[in-house]
Amino acid sequence: MAESLGSRMVSRSSVYVTAPWGHTDQEDFYNAIIVAEDPSWDRWAWLDFVQRCERNAERVRQRHWGPRTLDVDIVSCSDAGEQLTSSDPNLTLPHPRAHQRAFVLVPWLEAEPAATLLGVPLSEHLDALPEGERAGVRRLCDQTEWFV
Ligand code: ATP
Ligand code: CA
Ligand code: CA
Repeated sequence: MAESLGSRMVSRSSVYVTAPWGHTDQEDFYNAIIVAEDPSWDRWAWLDFVQRCERNAERVRQRHWGPRTLDVDIVSCSDAGEQLTSSDPNLTLPHPRAHQRAFVLVPWLEAEPAATLLGVPLSEHLDALPEGERAGVRRLCDQTEWFV
């Protein structure tokens, strides 16, 4: 995915390993955040792009929050510097569970330290989570291409 983003990629985090969320009887997950930009793409173009990436990874899944080869969520999308909000089920923005997930916030903070979510700095969202959540997100390596 990073490959096909090309010059659209602004920054990226390391790869993190996290114990599974939702159903805990499965393998660890790998998580990373990519910050990308293309002034000619709207949010629907980004959704098309991430869904193409998932199809290219031959994503197959038996159950919600179960194991998959690749899951790419749009955590936040801005237009002209304004963070978009939408409750459309096809593209909810910001991602409605992002602020509860250390595996999103930790890599995002690394990739974009000044970012805010719902008007609040990422570090404040992290501070509001149970301590074990943050500690459960372990940095594996800085090779995002390794898994995307
Ligand atoms: P979660 O949303 O809790 O992380 P999930 O990623 O496993 O769960 P999916 O089954 O991948 O959920 O959801 C896919 C659907 O979610 C797609 O139909 C897509 O249109 C929709 N969707 C809504 N908001 C977003 C978003 N912000 N990013 C990506 N897909 C979204
Ligand atoms: Ca997801
Ligand atoms: Ca998803």
